Amino acid sequence: MNAPLEKRRNIGILAHIDAGKTTTTERLLYYAGRTYKMGEVDEGTTVTDWMPEEQRRGITITAAATDFVWRDCLVTLIDTPGHVDFTAEVERSLRVLDGAVIVLCGVGGVEAQTETVWRQADRYRVPRLAFINKLDRLGSDFFRVVREIEDRLGATPLVTQLPVGRERDFRGVVDLVNMEMVLFDGSPPAIEQRRQPVVPELLDEARRWREKLEEQVAERVETLTEKYLDVGRLDETDLRTGIRAATLSLKGVPVLCGSALKCIGVQLLLDAVCDYLPSPGEVAPAVGRDPDDEKREIECPPDPEAPLVALAFKVAFDRYDELVYLRIYSGRLRQGRRVYNPRQNKKEIVSRIYRMLANRKEEQLAEAGPGDIVAVSGFAHTVTGDTLCESNHAVVLEPMRFPPTVMSMAIEPRSQADRDRLVESLRKFAREDPTFEVKNDPETGQLVVSGMGELHLEVIKHRLLEDFGVDANVGEPRVAYKETIAAESEAEGRVIQQTGQRGAFAVVRLRVRPAELGGAVRFLNLMPAATPPKIRHRFVAAIERGVLDTARGGVVTGYPLINVEALLLDAEEHPVDSDDVAFEAAASMALRRAVESVGAVLLEPVMSLEAVAPAQYLGDIIADLNARRADIRQVGERGELRVVSARVPLSEMFGYSTALRSLTQGRGSYTLEPSGYQQAPRKVYERWVL
Ligand code: GDP
Repeated sequence: MNAPLEKRRNIGILAHIDAGKTTTTERLLYYAGRTYKMGEVDEGTTVTDWMPEEQRRGITITAAATDFVWRDCLVTLIDTPGHVDFTAEVERSLRVLDGAVIVLCGVGGVEAQTETVWRQADRYRVPRLAFINKLDRLGSDFFRVVREIEDRLGATPLVTQLPVGRERDFRGVVDLVNMEMVLFDGSPPAIEQRRQPVVPELLDEARRWREKLEEQVAERVETLTEKYLDVGRLDETDLRTGIRAATLSLKGVPVLCGSALKCIGVQLLLDAVCDYLPSPGEVAPAVGRDPDDEKREIECPPDPEAPLVALAFKVAFDRYDELVYLRIYSGRLRQGRRVYNPRQNKKEIVSRIYRMLANRKEEQLAEAGPGDIVAVSGFAHTVTGDTLCESNHAVVLEPMRFPPTVMSMAIEPRSQADRDRLVESLRKFAREDPTFEVKNDPETGQLVVSGMGELHLEVIKHRLLEDFGVDANVGEPRVAYKETIAAESEAEGRVIQQTGQRGAFAVVRLRVRPAELGGAVRFLNLMPAATPPKIRHRFVAAIERGVLDTARGGVVTGYPLINVEALLLDAEEHPVDSDDVAFEAAASMALRRAVESVGAVLLEPVMSLEAVAPAQYLGDIIADLNARRADIRQVGERGELRVVSARVPLSEMFGYSTALRSLTQGRGSYTLEPSGYQQAPRKVYERWVL
């Protein structure tokens, strides 16, 4: 189906783990007619969790894009993981989606990761709906969760539905927009949706919430304010338009209720996606830069006649094939044509274009246009975050920035053949997963891989050993330290060798300074513009490579350098003797000298922890955390439970799940997520560096 731009929805579902994201996704796909048999998470048969590893763990790891049709809308669902070890997946999907559904658990309410994904969605200015799920469960409370959305997320909940019945008796919703009651009968999936007038017992409450909704919308949507003040109310059509406008301008979040498991409220959620979330034409156009003149911004309007601009947001491999997922912003992508990747300075051939149903390649397309999210085969060089465009109209979209890795493990292949296979598989992983890093440790001859947490590394290990059939010794995960600098400095690197047949010449002057980047070194060319330029363009690229490669390997401590800006101040070339290699070496030398002259600071990853347990265990939990160098930020209450929020160095958190279990007789639970880096104490420095 080819829908016009205004009938497209590119959406993602975000949630705290276990809130019911996978189940909701399954139900959406089922009702939209894309799956015949409804998958059940608990049986490991869902469409989106297609990786064997994911099925085993019952979590969604890899974002896959799935298309389906609802009413007259073509919806592309970008799957996002619920586990924080995979935050990169959330970030990259937020880059390419236009709207989101946040699933909340009707019992747990706003949980630690709900806050995380909410803030991420705020950062990318993504309009969103809230779906309060699991209202069939004992202890669920719709109105408490609505209050939490307001208090803890600082958002304006636009309550568009009220639950009918509670807990086991939950059986439908009151739709406040058309003031109807929608009941669900039968057993899943053969559920019948029945509309009827609101029963008298619920009418007063429904009217109160409806009035509140009208008032909220009128206050937030200027075009309706006057009408509301004149007439004293908004009719259904105005209300719908108003909710949409408030959602798109991020002034409110429509709140819906349901039970994905019991198939209650799912079709209404689909209606809300079409009614309230934006089309690709309603979001601010993407902005890129001219790679030859970084100061020049290029707007990429959703216009099929404009030059092509697309973002590669995911690279996925299986044993046989390689697919690159693209979001197209401008122009047309055509099968059989070449496109240009300016970051790699390579042309790629678009062999095939697919619309996807999870991992099953679906409908093949001859072309795709603005707003489309498609998978392409035939690319050989593109990595996640690259831009594809036309060679006579080069554009680079803002690359995605990912947080630094927090854990590493060493891998030792058993034979040379295994080593080759390992290197090949790791290269594939690195293209697939931008938060995964591989490094060769020249001292031990081991390969060291780093990732976002224990689970992330375990998944990688499993895929290497089982799916790619590599035979290797794999070490225990260790904390991934980093280094940075505390002050600015400048230095020069010179590679000058002008004897013998072929000389080498490169001079590079760099300034380094601390910067809050939350990750890898950023390189900026600050050489004054000149015609002709003082050094050729490709040498600037070689300098950048030299700087970034050296930073990745670590300068002083052997751990990667982060949170530093490297500014190119000056450089000199020789018409004959200069080449890329000389510039890479000179850049590396300049960076080393600059960092050494101010000294490196060792950084350790810090996690933000939320531990939840009954009140009687609070003292023990806090005492244990204090022994782990924790900085306790807050102790809150959630009914009978106490919630401890703290920041703790990751190195102190090994074995925490066992410790907490024994402290609380199995009644405590916790979440842990990366929360930046802090300077490591002297004894850590001595242990890992000296
Ligand atoms: P995810 O981690 O957010 O993807 O959550 P899942 O969809 O895997 O669901 C986690 C667990 O909650 C599974 O055991 C589901 O069967 C269950 N679940 C999901 N939705 C509901 C619901 O609406 N009601 C109830 N009672 N359980 C649900």
